[in-house]
Amino acid sequence: MTPTVRKADPPTQRSALRIILGDQLSLDIAALADLDRERDTVLMMEVEEEGSYVRHHKQKLVLVLAAMRHFARSLQALGIRVEYIRLDDPDNTGALPSEILRAAARLRPDRIIVTEPGEWRVQTLLEDAASLTGLPVELRADDRFFASRARFAAWARGRRGWRMEHFYREMRREHAILMEGDSPAGGEWNYDAANRQRLPKAMSAPTRLRFAPDALTREVMALVEQRFGDHFGSIAEFGWPVTRTDALLALQDFITAGLPCFGDYQDAMRAGAPFLYHSLLSPALNVGLLSPREVCHAAEEAWNAGKAPLNAVEGFVRQILGWREYVRGVYWTWMPEYAERNALQADRRLPEFYWTGETSMRCLREVIADTARHAYSHHIQRLMVTGNFALLAGVVPREIERWYLAVYADAFEWVEMPNTLGMAVFADGGQMASKPYAASGAYINRMSDFCSGCVYDVSLKTGPKACPFNYLYWAFLIRNRERLSANPRLAMPYRTLAAWTRERELAILAEADAFLDSLAGAPPIAGAPPIAGASLVSGPLIAGAN
Ligand SMILES: Cc1cc2nc3c(=O)[nH]c(=O)nc-3n(C[C@H](O)[C@H](O)[C@H](O)COP(=O)(O)OP(=O)(O)OC[C@H]3O[C@@H](n4cnc5c(N)ncnc54)[C@H](O)[C@@H]3O)c2cc1C
Ligand code: SF4
Repeated sequence: MTPTVRKADPPTQRSALRIILGDQLSLDIAALADLDRERDTVLMMEVEEEGSYVRHHKQKLVLVLAAMRHFARSLQALGIRVEYIRLDDPDNTGALPSEILRAAARLRPDRIIVTEPGEWRVQTLLEDAASLTGLPVELRADDRFFASRARFAAWARGRRGWRMEHFYREMRREHAILMEGDSPAGGEWNYDAANRQRLPKAMSAPTRLRFAPDALTREVMALVEQRFGDHFGSIAEFGWPVTRTDALLALQDFITAGLPCFGDYQDAMRAGAPFLYHSLLSPALNVGLLSPREVCHAAEEAWNAGKAPLNAVEGFVRQILGWREYVRGVYWTWMPEYAERNALQADRRLPEFYWTGETSMRCLREVIADTARHAYSHHIQRLMVTGNFALLAGVVPREIERWYLAVYADAFEWVEMPNTLGMAVFADGGQMASKPYAASGAYINRMSDFCSGCVYDVSLKTGPKACPFNYLYWAFLIRNRERLSANPRLAMPYRTLAAWTRERELAILAEADAFLDSLAGAPPIAGAPPIAGASLVSGPLIAGAN
């Protein structure tokens, strides 16, 4: 159920406190519309609680705080009064509701205006603030998204099975993106089949535009090291855009250096090349420095100008107009109960190597090392390496979910949680994905060069040298037979299993369990209730590593 926030009276000549949260850094955000420069004040707050409710990657903290400080400057340059609470202000109480209360007592506004927050947790904090101050709060819809929460609810109402593809087609029509009249551009809605190529050995990865931190960002980096120095990841190579100007340059870099090959190599992975042709735009999009509309239009224009092929442009647009909007709808429809889903009754703790990167499995080692270094992995690294392993190993969904929320610069719960619970570990039992994204080592070998330098042999199914993904895959299918064997998309592997003897199955289960039990920090917690909240997440161990 969505918590209610009291609606304000229609605007009059009174003064308003306009709150801008750390992921609302857009000049055209709803909370700033009709701002009265004479009477209104914008309130922006850096608070300890937001920095530490999970142990966010230090680059994520730098991204949000540096982007907030730059944004405040650009508001001030427009003559807008900004009340900016810094993390190190001596009077900072460290939490959003109490900071809103303090600001309301100082500034004495008649009302508070805020754009609906991205996360459920923050919405409840705003409710607390509303009752603390006693002021009317006007909660405005976040119209930076293509589909409002109400629009998604209207699409979902009465549907038995939700599929992203159906929603996506409706969005294409509604927003006239990649359309030729009433038909999809090029005649097909989806060019995914063309988008699964391995990166040829001879092809080198493009150099991507990164941004050297300016003085203000360096100041934030020092603050983050000082206040959150034991959090996961390294700050040394911070290169994310933190201003609107740089975010537009990043978009331009993607359109020229990434988009033309984005489709073909969207699923490819290569050791030492974490970015490839991906856009790297999610951090800027998620804090509001770029809008999903302008990003989709830039890609469409590149296609119109003959600078990028349709399979790339459609593939990119689908991620934004389709997946990004869809997961937001899923999140707001099913929260807060969604956070506790565990359809497969997974019961193993998150292995310690997710924090340290210390594992002999090369694919995981490479992806986790890049995550620590850049606060970034592309989609297939998240879904088919770290996500796939957590799925096959039966990691408690809430533990892997908190990990994803902590380790990426773009991680905000509304987009991270459905991707993790729904897509990566099938914790919602199929509401997001039509089948679990479970795969053996063969998939990773097909899409990457990781296996060639691994101590394990991807072609071996059992034995000490066998790739763990292989026996874990079959053990996963055996363990979940009752829940999954009726799924038509898993008919083939279950047909294969049907020919196995019970002894063979037991041997695979024993090998998988022995391997998982050997991993530090990964005991099963059989019989334990679903894990809620961040408190059980073990502390990150490689602060500053890599
Ligand atoms: C387990 C898991 C956790 C994830 N957590 C996050 C997260 O916290 N924040 C986040 O923004 N994305 C998340 N994603 C989705 C996706 O992996 C990232 O958006 C993408 O990797 C960001 O890199 P990019 O900007 O280079 O994306 P590109 O590959 O260039 O894609 C373009 C854009 O499309 C959007 N997009 C792509 N895939 C998805 C998706 N599945 N869901 C929503 N939007 C998508 C992003 O805005 C992205 O910037 C997650 C995926 C998985 C499997
Ligand atoms: S052999 Fe297995 S563990 Fe090693 S890199 Fe390949 S998939 Fe990963």
